[in-house]
Amino acid sequence: MSTRLYFATGNSGKVEHARNILPDNFEVKQLDIETVEPSIDSIEEIAESKVEQALEKSDIEDDAFLIADDSGLFIDSLNGFPGPQTAFFDRKVGKENIMKLLDDDTKAEFRAAIALYLPERDDIRVFTGKARGEIVEPRGDGGFGYDPLFLPKDHDRTWGEDPDYKDRNSHRHDALGKLQAFLKGL
Ligand code: IMP
Repeated sequence: MSTRLYFATGNSGKVEHARNILPDNFEVKQLDIETVEPSIDSIEEIAESKVEQALEKSDIEDDAFLIADDSGLFIDSLNGFPGPQTAFFDRKVGKENIMKLLDDDTKAEFRAAIALYLPERDDIRVFTGKARGEIVEPRGDGGFGYDPLFLPKDHDRTWGEDPDYKDRNSHRHDALGKLQAFLKGL
C-alpha cells in the first residue's frame, strides 16, 4: 500500500529531493502553499509552524500525511549563520557573496527539520537531519540552492556535481529516514 505525503512548500527542489530519497511506495505531492516563517532561531519550531499554517489552508484526505521542511546552512566560523535565516540571506546578500564572509575555515553543515502532521492523533512530530561539509566555489549545476557550493565531508564532488550522492547522504535523507522508520512503527 502506498503512503501519500503532501509536502507543503513553494520549493520544488525540496520536493524532488524527497521523491528521490523516499522509496516507490511513497507518493510525494507538492502543496504549493505560502507560509510565513516566524523569526525564531530554531528550524524545528519553524517547520512545526509551517505545517500548522499549511494545515489551516488545506484540506487533505484523512489517510494522507502532511509534511513541511525548514532547512538551512550553518557555517562554523560564523557561529552557525545564516542557519534558519538561509532563505533570507539568499534574498538579501546572495550565495555568490558568501565567500567574502569566510576566511580559511569554510566548514559548515546543512540541517533539516521535517514536521509531520498525524491526522489520526491530531499531533505533529519533527524529524531532524544533518550533513557536514565545506563551502567551496560553485561546481556543477545539479540540485538546487547551495548544492553547487557544498562539498560534503569525505567526498570529492559537490552536491551540484553529484546529486545521486546527495540523495544518499544529506540532511534531508537523514530526516526522511527517521520519518520513514516512525511511520513504519505506527
Ligand atoms: P527554507 O527552509 O525555505 O527556509 O529555505 C532554506 C534555504 O536553504 C533554501 O532556500 C536553500 O537556499 C537552502 N537549502 C535548504 N536545503 C538545501 C539543499 O538541500 N541544498 C541546497 N540548499 C538548500
